[in-house]
Amino acid sequence: MRFIHSYECTLCGAVYPADSSFFTCPACGEKGILEIRYDYERMKSIVNADYFRASKEFSMWRYLPLMSIRGTDIGETLRVGWTPLYRTQRLGQTLQIDRLFVKDEGCNPTASLKDRASAVACLHAREMGRPILACASTGNAASSLAGNAARLGLKSVIFVPKRAPLGKLTQMMLFGATVISVDGDYKDAFRLSREAIAKYGWYNRNAAINPHLVEGKKTVALEIAEQLGFHAPDWVAVSVGDGCTVAGVYKGFYDFWKLGLIEKIPKILGVQSSGCAPFVEAAAERRGLREAAENTIADSISVGIPRNPVKVLRAVTASKGAWIAVSDADILEAMRLLGRTEGIFGEPAGVAPVAGVQAARIAGWIKKEETVVAVMTGNGLKDPANGQKAAGSPVVMKPDLATFVHWMDQHDKEVCL
Ligand SMILES: *Cc1c(COP(=O)(O)O)cnc(C)c1O
Ligand SMILES: [Zn+2]
Repeated sequence: MRFIHSYECTLCGAVYPADSSFFTCPACGEKGILEIRYDYERMKSIVNADYFRASKEFSMWRYLPLMSIRGTDIGETLRVGWTPLYRTQRLGQTLQIDRLFVKDEGCNPTASLKDRASAVACLHAREMGRPILACASTGNAASSLAGNAARLGLKSVIFVPKRAPLGKLTQMMLFGATVISVDGDYKDAFRLSREAIAKYGWYNRNAAINPHLVEGKKTVALEIAEQLGFHAPDWVAVSVGDGCTVAGVYKGFYDFWKLGLIEKIPKILGVQSSGCAPFVEAAAERRGLREAAENTIADSISVGIPRNPVKVLRAVTASKGAWIAVSDADILEAMRLLGRTEGIFGEPAGVAPVAGVQAARIAGWIKKEETVVAVMTGNGLKDPANGQKAAGSPVVMKPDLATFVHWMDQHDKEVCL
C-alpha cells in the first residue's frame, strides 16, 4: 500500500494513479488487466536484508510491505504461506538433477497455493467494506475463498464446473459458501460468475481480473528466494491454467531483483497438460491463443480460455523460460514418483511441474547442475479419485497370520527391498 507507484494496463499501457480503486483498465474493459507498479527506491528503505533478518512473521504477511493492501487485520487470517521448500534426495537422483527442490503449497490452510490470493482478497474486501466475495473456479480458488472468508466472517458465492473433484467441493460446502455447481465447464462457470458479479456488485475474487491477487500469489516466489538464502534458482516450474500463478511467480522474483536482493530472475517453465494446452500450442506454432478443449485429469489447469494471457506470456518470455506439455499418463507417473521418493502427495495439477521438469531434463533444456524448483501447487487429498488411479489398491486379506506368511513368501522381495 505504502509503496504503490501506479497501476499500468497490460493491454494499452495506460498508467493510473496509486489511489485508483478499479480492478481493470477503464479504457480497455475486462481484458485490460492491470499491473501494480511499486516505487522500489522508497521500498528499499524498509525492505532489505536487515528487515528479513529481524522479521519473526513466518507467514505470507512477512512480505506485506511488498504488497498492495493495507493489511490492517493480518493477525486474524488463517496462517497462509511460509510453506516448506524441500531439497529432494531420491527424486533429484531419479531425474538426474543435483539440486532439485519442491515447494509444497499443499501445506497451506486449505491445501493449495490459492490461499495466498484468497487471504489478500478477503482482507481487501474487508478494507473496502464489502462483505460478500464471489469467484468462478475449477475448485481450489473456491475452496480457498470459502475457508479464508469463513475465518474472517465474510460470505462467499462460488461458481464451479460440474466436474470439480469431491475433496474441493466438500471443503467449500463445509466452509459454508454458497456453491453453484454449473452444468457446464470452467468457461461456462466463469461467464456466469462475471454476469452475476456485475449484477450484484460482489467483491470479485477472479484472479485474472483483480490485480491485487497476483500480489498475494507472488509471495510464493519471495519465499523460494529467501529460503534459498536470497538466491534465485535457475528454473522454476509452474503449472498453468489461467496464468495468474506464473504471473505471480514472475512478479515476486522481479520485485526482489529490483530491490537488489537477488542477482537474477529464474527461467520459468510453464507446464500444461496436453489435454488442455492453449499456451504450449500457441508457443509451438508461433501464433496467438486459441480456445482449447478442457480434457485432462488435471482439473485445476483445465482452462480452455485462459483469463490472464498477457501477463503469463510476458513472464515466460521475459524470464527466457519455456513452455512444455505433459500427458495425463505422465502426470499420474509424476504423482506416484513424488509420493514414493519424497512422501509428498500432490493433486494432478500440483505434480504436473514435476512431470514438466522430467520432460525438460530429458530434452536437455534443464542441465544436471542447475538449481530447479518445482512448485507443487495443491494437495492430493483434494482429488482422491485421481490419487487412487496413480496409487493402486491395497492387498485384501483375512486377519490370519498363516495367510499373511503365505503371501509374504511370494512377495518378500517387493516388501523388503
Ligand atoms: C489454480 C491452480 C493452478 C494454476 O494457476 P493459474 O493461475 O490458473 O494458472 C495450478 N495448480 C493448482 C493446484 C491450482 O489450484
Ligand atoms: Zn487499457
